[in-house]
Amino acid sequence: MRILVTGGAGFIGSHLCDRLLAEGHSVIAMDNLITGTTRNIEHLVGHERFLFIKHDVTNYLYVEGKLDAILHFASPASPIDYLNYPIQTLKVGSLGTHNVLGLAMAHDARLLLASTSEVYGDPLVHPQTEDYWGNVNPVGPRGCYDEAKRFAEAIVMAYHNVHGVNTRIVRIFNTFGPRMRLDDGRVVPNFVGQALRGEPLTVYGDGSQTRSFCYIDDQVDGLYRLLLSDEHEPVNIGNPYEISILDFAHLINELTDNPGGIVFQDKRIEGDPQTRRPDISKGQRILKWEPKVDIRKGLKRTIEYFKDRV
Ligand code: UDP
Repeated sequence: MRILVTGGAGFIGSHLCDRLLAEGHSVIAMDNLITGTTRNIEHLVGHERFLFIKHDVTNYLYVEGKLDAILHFASPASPIDYLNYPIQTLKVGSLGTHNVLGLAMAHDARLLLASTSEVYGDPLVHPQTEDYWGNVNPVGPRGCYDEAKRFAEAIVMAYHNVHGVNTRIVRIFNTFGPRMRLDDGRVVPNFVGQALRGEPLTVYGDGSQTRSFCYIDDQVDGLYRLLLSDEHEPVNIGNPYEISILDFAHLINELTDNPGGIVFQDKRIEGDPQTRRPDISKGQRILKWEPKVDIRKGLKRTIEYFKDRV
């Protein structure tokens, strides 16, 4: 297939490019580089089946030649990033998604939308199943991301129902691994960076809030299987192994032998979900997929990556 990956220079997008090339496909990565970086794809420069286009998908979009699939991964995705770029986040989820749907129609290409566990907001159902509608404050600080992705899901379903576009929707839960930006503000780069500098880890609030962390290779495997499947309804992809942020901090300190300890800071963003864990039974059933890399193994690989960056 000839495949367009929007957000192809981002964390997940660049790993997707690697996987698609390894599967024998041709890949066009598109990115405006506001939160992505060419460093994530520099190893692909010169690859005969790889092309990079610097472009903002909220602007007019045109791709020459045939296109079999579009993976729409362009968006700021860490809370710090979407708080810095709320308008760009809303535009890429709305106008950007509209543009890629038009492109999919023009090329008769299938479209996979990267949605998020944030559509569930601060969830009142635990673990989160795909049929849960969520608990989101549209005008809260996280609303720009949550509502952009909720709108994106809605317009993707509308194009599927009205125009018969061959669509997929993945709801991505917290994912970590090499190529996360050290300064993206998320808990994994923050904690690992602090630990490698011998500093205390900054736990926001009392650390009782939970997350469930999926290693990037497992995430990409789920995404690829979903792309090849026939499922049009949303599918959660993530690792159901749930851990409190405080226990996570202890784990990072242990894996890095960090003597710096932990400090508590009153920095939780309003609407910061208290719990998050994917119910992945749908993905297990229809994609024959489940995560394989345990958190310690994934973190060790991630720590190695960050050693060069700190
Ligand atoms: N967090 C933390 N210390 C940090 C960064 C984040 O305690 O230095 C917490 C944050 O308050 C949240 C969780 O870790 O409860 C995960 O935050 P992240 O920004 O990684 O992503 P989210 O899952 O909230 O989108």
